[in-house]
Amino acid sequence: MMVLPEELSGVTLHELQKRTALESLERRILLCHALQLTRAQLIAQSERVVTAEEAQGLADLFNRRLAGEPIAYLTGTREFYGLAFHVTPDVLIPRPETELLVDLAIARLPQGGRVLDMGTGSGAIAIAIAHARPDVSVVASDVSLAALRVAQDNADRILSGRQNAIRFLPSDWYAGFGEEDRFDVIVSNPPYIAANDPHLTQGDLRFEPANALTDHGDGLSAYRALAAGARDYLESGGWLLVEHGFEQAMPIQELLLSNRFEAVQTWKDLAGLARVTGGHSAAEGH
Ligand code: GLN
Repeated sequence: MMVLPEELSGVTLHELQKRTALESLERRILLCHALQLTRAQLIAQSERVVTAEEAQGLADLFNRRLAGEPIAYLTGTREFYGLAFHVTPDVLIPRPETELLVDLAIARLPQGGRVLDMGTGSGAIAIAIAHARPDVSVVASDVSLAALRVAQDNADRILSGRQNAIRFLPSDWYAGFGEEDRFDVIVSNPPYIAANDPHLTQGDLRFEPANALTDHGDGLSAYRALAAGARDYLESGGWLLVEHGFEQAMPIQELLLSNRFEAVQTWKDLAGLARVTGGHSAAEGH
């Protein structure tokens, strides 16, 4: 089904909301975005008539959504941890369940501590931590330069006035790090979907960067790299915390244990699904 601009032109905002095939919340978000209106203005101006030019832009947006493009890419923004992030198809769209990873990291960061976010994408995790904890020094890495540009732009906007609050580093896992780099907490929401998982061909995932979603293998290779390298970059007693798919907690716990992490455990997200697993490196003198 296609929406034609002629169907929308000359129609009131009130009428228009009843006509389109989209779900009402999505329709409202796209209307506000296309017409640069707040939700309150959309209601207040319900008798306003859509111009031919506006109808063109609206039809285009509606059709892209009907073809499956994620809302966040159409509006270019997604809220995470109470902050407004810009997103492009170069980065994964931040998910609400990832707020758990941010909470767990913040709770384990000592005053003035250091945190590393590996595979930062839009920068959501790193920026949320830096915003909540101005005392902490934050490093964020990604192998994708396009993603780092999006993350830097988000940091400049959200942490404005705090230039260099976050150090962004192009790096394939630990390859770009040096001997002097040490962290109290390393966090990551890495690509964890197995290459043959049908979810990759469904919903929003079809439009997100494949390299942010899948390791093109069994879904665990990022965790192998993260766990094997973490010991060289963690302070003694420092935490590695990783987000994962709801069926991956057990293999990741085993991976952490075999890399001699301690207090290995898994936390559930708000939906009750196993979502984050972590452990800390051995404390000195024990
Ligand atoms: N949580 C995402 C999804 O399944 C995947 C994110 C990731 O690969 N890190 O939709």
